[in-house]
Amino acid sequence: MIQSLLIANRGEIACRIIRTARQMGIRTVAVYSDADAKALHVRQADEAVHIGPSPARESYLVGEKIIAAALTTGAEAIHPGYGFLSENAEFAQAVIDAGLVWVGPRPASITAMGLKDAAKKLMAEAGVPVTPGYLGENQDPAFLASQAAEIGYPVLIKAVAGGGGKGMRKVEEAADFADALASCQREASASFGNAHVLIEKYIQRPRHIEVQVFGDTHGNIVHLFERDCSLQRRHQKVIEEAPAPGMDEGTREQLCATAVRAARAVDYVGAGTIEFIADASEGLRADRIWFMEMNTRLQVEHPVTEEITGVDLVEWQLRVASGEPLPKRQDELSINGWAMEARLYAEDPAKGFLPSIGRLEHFTLPHTRPPVRDTAHGFSPDVDATNQTSQGAIRVDTGVEKGGEVSPFYDPMIAKVIASGHDRDAARRSLLSALGDTVVWPVKTNAAFLVAALAHPEFAEGTVDTGLIARDGEELARPPAPSPAKLTDAAMAMISAGIVPRFRLNAEPHSSGRFLLDGEPIEIPLVAGGTLWPSDDMLVSDKGMVWHLTPWRIEGGHGHHAHDGAILSPMPGRIIAVEVAAGDVVTKGQKLLTLEAMKMEHSLTAPFDGVVAELNVAAGAQVQVEAPLVRIAPAE
Ligand code: ADP
Repeated sequence: MIQSLLIANRGEIACRIIRTARQMGIRTVAVYSDADAKALHVRQADEAVHIGPSPARESYLVGEKIIAAALTTGAEAIHPGYGFLSENAEFAQAVIDAGLVWVGPRPASITAMGLKDAAKKLMAEAGVPVTPGYLGENQDPAFLASQAAEIGYPVLIKAVAGGGGKGMRKVEEAADFADALASCQREASASFGNAHVLIEKYIQRPRHIEVQVFGDTHGNIVHLFERDCSLQRRHQKVIEEAPAPGMDEGTREQLCATAVRAARAVDYVGAGTIEFIADASEGLRADRIWFMEMNTRLQVEHPVTEEITGVDLVEWQLRVASGEPLPKRQDELSINGWAMEARLYAEDPAKGFLPSIGRLEHFTLPHTRPPVRDTAHGFSPDVDATNQTSQGAIRVDTGVEKGGEVSPFYDPMIAKVIASGHDRDAARRSLLSALGDTVVWPVKTNAAFLVAALAHPEFAEGTVDTGLIARDGEELARPPAPSPAKLTDAAMAMISAGIVPRFRLNAEPHSSGRFLLDGEPIEIPLVAGGTLWPSDDMLVSDKGMVWHLTPWRIEGGHGHHAHDGAILSPMPGRIIAVEVAAGDVVTKGQKLLTLEAMKMEHSLTAPFDGVVAELNVAAGAQVQVEAPLVRIAPAE
C-alpha cells in the first residue's frame, strides 16, 4: 500500500480524498495557490506546498510544479481529483515517468476516451450501442448537412474535443444547419483548439444515466450500478441520484453489463464512469439507451454511489493504484436504499446564476454524519431507518468553512449535500429539508433553487428529463418569500431580547412590529412569547433563502417616541424625492419622502394624521442613519 499521497486539487474533492487517506493511515500532501493559502484542504493535509499564483493555469494546471512538489515532499503517489489535470493523459504519463504512482487509469485509456468521435467508434466496435449519427472525417459543410438530413432532425452538432456542455448546438431544421455548424466550429476552435465536429440524433426528453465502473491491474472489472443525473442546467448536472428512478432489474442488468464491456474495451483500471443518454419517452428500455462518453476519473457525484453500495470509492482507488485487487466481486455488490446529491453553489439564481464572491460570514450546513462506510459486517440498512425522519443522516462534502472566502478564481461549488433514505421519496424529502435550513450569508447560494427543484412535481415523481430546468427554470429561480411564521419567530426573538422597544410597535400594542428585511420595510405580526437573541440584527432562513432582519428605527430611537412623529432615517442613504412641504396636512400612511439606500428605494410615510411640523431635508440630500428627516405633529 502506498504510504504517502499528494492531492493535485483543491476544495471539497481535496478534503474528500484527504479524509479517506487519513483513515487508511496514508500521509497526505496538499498543494495550494495564493488564493488558497488558508483553505481547508491545506490545513487538513499533513503537509502543504505552495505552487503559485491564484489563476489555475499558473498553479493547479501546471503539471511540473505538482510533480516537483511530490518529489520534494517524498510523496509516493498523486491523486488528481476531478477537473484540472485529472483527464490529462500527458500529465498522467509525466507522473509515471517521474517514478510516482498515478491514481487513475492508464494514460492510453484516457487518450482513447478523450475525443468523443474516437470514443464512440471504439465503443461501437466493442458492441456498445452509440447514439445514431455521423462520426467521420469529412467536415465539408454540405456533406455534414446531408448527413444531418439522413439522421433526421432535430440533430445535435458536437465538438469532438468538447466538454462541460460547451461546443454543442441543437439544430431543429435543415435551414438552420449551416449557421449552427459555423458557430459550433468557431466555439470549438476557440475553446478546445479543435474545430472537428460529429453529428448526433437529438434525443427527445432525454435522461442522463451513467454507470460507475471499476477496474484493477489484475484484469477484474465490476460496475457499481447506475446514477441518474438528468436534472441539469445548461447541460451541467444540478441534482444526482442513485439508483435511477424507473429502472427495472432487467434493464439495469443489461445497461451495467454494457458499461463493463465498454470499460473492458479500453482495459480500464481505477474508477470510471460510462455516460449514457436514454430516450425515456416510453420508460427506460435497454434498446433506447446509448453510450455518450466515458469519464476517466472520479466523478463529482460519486457519493451517491458510495451511499447505496457502502463502498468508499477513494479507498478503492488507492488500493487499486497500490496494485491490490478490487476489494469486492460483482456478486458481493448490491444496492441498499436510495441516495440523492445536490450541488450547492455560491451563485445568485435571481441574477442569472452569477457567481457570488466574498467572505462566508455565516456558513451553517445541516447536521452531518460521516459517509456510509463498509464495515466488517457489511453495509447496515439501519442507517437508512434514521434517514427517513431526521437530518442526522445528511452527508456534506465541503471544502470551505465559516470565515472562509469564495474567490473568483475557481468553480463556485461550495458543498455537496447528500441525503440517503430507504426509498427515493425519503431521500428527496430529507435533502429538501436539509437544504431549506442551510444558512450561508452574505454570499448567495442556489439553495432555494435546489429546494424548488426538489419540490417540482415532475422531479418528485421521478419523470425528470434533462430539459426540465430549461422549461421551468425561471419559476424555479424566483426567490421565495419567507413564511410569516419564521418572520414572527425572528421578530419576537428580537423583542424579547429588548432590542425592539415597545414604542417601536405600532398603534395596536403588540399586534405587529416594523422591521427592515434586507433593507425593505416590513410589518411583522407579533405573538406572545419568543426566545432571547443577543443581537440587534438577525438572519432569517427559510426554503433555502437567507434574509437580514433589523428593527425599523423611523418611529423611535434616541428618545424619539413614535407619538412624537419624528421620522428618522432608517439607514444611511440619499433622499431622492420629497412629497410634502412644511405645514402640509397629512394623513396616516401618506408618503412623505423616498430614501434610496442599499440600491433600493424606501418610502417613508406618516405614522398618523397630522401636520408637517418640521422638514429638515431636500431632494438630493445624503443622510446618516437616524438623521431626523421630518416631524409630524398630531392633528388637534
Ligand atoms: P459534455 O462532454 O460537454 O458534458 P456530453 O456529450 O456529455 O457533453 O453531453 C452533455 C449533456 O448534453 C448530456 O447530459 C445531455 O443532457 C445532453 N445531450 C448530449 N447528447 C445528446 C443527444 N444526442 N440528444 C439530446 N441531448 C443530448
